[in-house]
Amino acid sequence: MDLVNLTWDTLDLHTAQPFGIARWTHSVYPRTLVTLERGGVQGRGEAAPNAFYGETRGTVEAVLPLLATALEGVRDPWDWEGLHAAVTRVMPHDHPSVKCALEMAAVEWCAMLAGVPARHLLGLSDRPLPHSSYTVSLAELPEMRQRAREAVEAGQTILKVKLGTDRDEAILTALREELPHVTLRVDANAAWTRVQAKRMLDVLDAANAELLEQPLAADDLDGHAELRRTARVPLVADESLHHVRDVLSLARAFDGVNLKLAKLGGPLQALQALRLARAHGMQVMIGCMIESSLGIAAAAALAGSCDWADLDGALLLADDPFTGLHWQAGELAPPQGPGWGVTRRPE
Ligand SMILES: [Mg+2]
Repeated sequence: MDLVNLTWDTLDLHTAQPFGIARWTHSVYPRTLVTLERGGVQGRGEAAPNAFYGETRGTVEAVLPLLATALEGVRDPWDWEGLHAAVTRVMPHDHPSVKCALEMAAVEWCAMLAGVPARHLLGLSDRPLPHSSYTVSLAELPEMRQRAREAVEAGQTILKVKLGTDRDEAILTALREELPHVTLRVDANAAWTRVQAKRMLDVLDAANAELLEQPLAADDLDGHAELRRTARVPLVADESLHHVRDVLSLARAFDGVNLKLAKLGGPLQALQALRLARAHGMQVMIGCMIESSLGIAAAAALAGSCDWADLDGALLLADDPFTGLHWQAGELAPPQGPGWGVTRRPE
């Protein structure tokens, strides 16, 4: 039987506009495209490293050769448990985006061999996906206003506003004034103090915000639990959720979790987190990093089972290297075709 062969390529994604959150603003996003091949069949995955989760392109490229060596004894991409064990031996901790790329590649390899969409292989449905939000990232207020207005004019109905500054009240109030009918979600990216968060709850209520993502520091579960007692909006954990097992401790502090494949270690890990969150009565958002349509397609496979979708990562790009995802404003159709359902554009 042929052996599994792992190869990778670097990929620089560029956002159409600088993308800013409370911690940073960037325009270039280094990604790595991982391909798993056996017997002429290929599966693909995308590593979207994020410094907040301890990763850079340097860490991705340092660990991939070790992973390729560890997989030399693996013959069967269907053996997901065996792959997971091999991966865990090389990377007991950290490197979630590399783990994600490998899981994506293994799942797609199997789906390509079976000739079915990857979501069918995972037992997931073709039901319509929840409308995705479109992110209005941090910038000067007139620019945020303009971006928000343009997004709504282009048909977006749900905006996710990035906050975490000393002018958050002004930003949110201005956007609500500008766009009285759009659904507004707020993401503070862990930047608020407890006092600030408490004060902002009233501002969120006045703006009729739909949900609040990660107001406080990632490790401040007590603060989130306390805030939740007075909050009208659902609190959703993002930075506080690094690993499937975290869902257990988050259930007391949050109403929901934001699942991102790149931080959880792949589609199989995200699916476990989804089921664990449901078992604890939590709501679920499917999210993303700035990723190509390949990474977004893998997240979209799970979206039909989630309450909220935030899958605009590839829409923010100037140079998405993959095609195959079909958007109608905020509405994403389940990807068609075998595997993840996307193809690489010619160079
Ligand atoms: Mg977030």
